[in-house]
Amino acid sequence: MAKKSWAEPYKIKMVELLKMTTKEERIAAIKEAGYNTFLLKSEDVYIDLLTDSGTSAMSDQQWAAMMLGDEAYAGSKNFYNLYDTIQEHYGYKYIVPTHQGRGSEHILSQLTIKKGDIVPGNMYFTTTRLHQELAGGEFVDVIIDEAHDSQNEFPFKGNVDIKKMEKLIKEYGAKKIPYVSLEANVNMAGGQPFSMENLKELHALCSKHKIPIMLDATRCVENSYFIQQREKGYEKKTVKQILKEICSYTDGCTMSAKKDSLVNIGGFFACNDEELYKKAQNMCVVYEGLHTYGGMAGRDMEALCVGIRESVMDEHQQARIGQTIYLGEKLMKAGIPIVQPIGSHAVFLDAKKFLPHVDQDEYPAQSLAAEIYIESGVRTMERGNVSAGRDPHTGKNRRPKLELVRLTLPRRVYTQAHMDVVAESVIELFERRNSITGLKMIYEPEYLRFFQAKFNKL
Ligand SMILES: *Cc1c(COP(=O)(O)O)cnc(C)c1O
Repeated sequence: MAKKSWAEPYKIKMVELLKMTTKEERIAAIKEAGYNTFLLKSEDVYIDLLTDSGTSAMSDQQWAAMMLGDEAYAGSKNFYNLYDTIQEHYGYKYIVPTHQGRGSEHILSQLTIKKGDIVPGNMYFTTTRLHQELAGGEFVDVIIDEAHDSQNEFPFKGNVDIKKMEKLIKEYGAKKIPYVSLEANVNMAGGQPFSMENLKELHALCSKHKIPIMLDATRCVENSYFIQQREKGYEKKTVKQILKEICSYTDGCTMSAKKDSLVNIGGFFACNDEELYKKAQNMCVVYEGLHTYGGMAGRDMEALCVGIRESVMDEHQQARIGQTIYLGEKLMKAGIPIVQPIGSHAVFLDAKKFLPHVDQDEYPAQSLAAEIYIESGVRTMERGNVSAGRDPHTGKNRRPKLELVRLTLPRRVYTQAHMDVVAESVIELFERRNSITGLKMIYEPEYLRFFQAKFNKL
């Protein structure tokens, strides 16, 4: 069917009613939550754009698959089905299921990183870097400089800077680099893809020095769609073909199935090295569950099989990313400062530009996320100074270049009219932005503080 719009390739079969709240109720709720949107009750939220993690709507086929759960402790047939499905779509030889993405990050980090090792990556992700640090490694950012500039419109801002990589290898030697941590569709940069050309260059460099590339495949299907849309030579390839080609230039992956794969829970670790696989299976039984379920129920694995197949359908990605672009363009037209180009899974507001009068140590993005909630009941997330945490050497806030509020779109959940409401409320807030003040942190947990920190209004 020829179509120019991003209209959904599905119709709605079941709905979930939402509670409507007043502004007074929302002011009380966010205060109670310490101005941290993670601590709000979801009941008090109208449109939930906190995250696209585990929040997707499953299809009727996925719900039907749930009924096929084989809940045997060992050797469930859903596991073998999952194994085959992952091999078919991602192409890796060996697979270990995990309860979610960080379970696989834990296994990979503990098995491959030694104290004093350097782990290069194309911008950090919160849980990924923490696991690398807990294993004794030091994360070094090797993403291209364009990624740190919210207004740069380069189409592949997730690319690795090959020169930075070469310099790192020269400085530390390949032996100190257990692997390159390569994230698809870099979340913290605004959902920005790498190009196949860049990956091939990285692959050539890493092969020469025998450094494995471990893919964070969490949003690799979305990255594949961007390659199809933007990279010469890939216009005629399917998303499914591009995904497999990407994986073929890497040595393994960690995966949170809660994103691309359209399920509410799950993940996996995959690799091509048999020895690493055996060790990963063994770690799995200590921390996740038996190596044939890794923390997932049989029915979860079956729904994941269907989810992977649906995720690589071109029309699904066109609608999924089309909706994000629809919201982003609406905000751009109204002059709202957002990260360019618009990413796959979210629209990111540039809080430094939105609230230039709030110092970064007064957490402008955290404050803006709280205000958006008060304005309209829309829940968003901070991705700035709070998420970045403290530098382990100096103990000071990292004050990252990007200070963002993420409006993350769950897959297949909200309508175009919902997007209009979101845009209207952000625009109204922008008009009275001068009245918004910063925050003071009054409770700070040791790890991943953004999840549980509490604040007071300044
Ligand atoms: C969500 C996410 C993870 C962690 O996965 P969980 O399932 O939340 O544990 C890792 N990397 C990226 C890029 C993610 O978005």
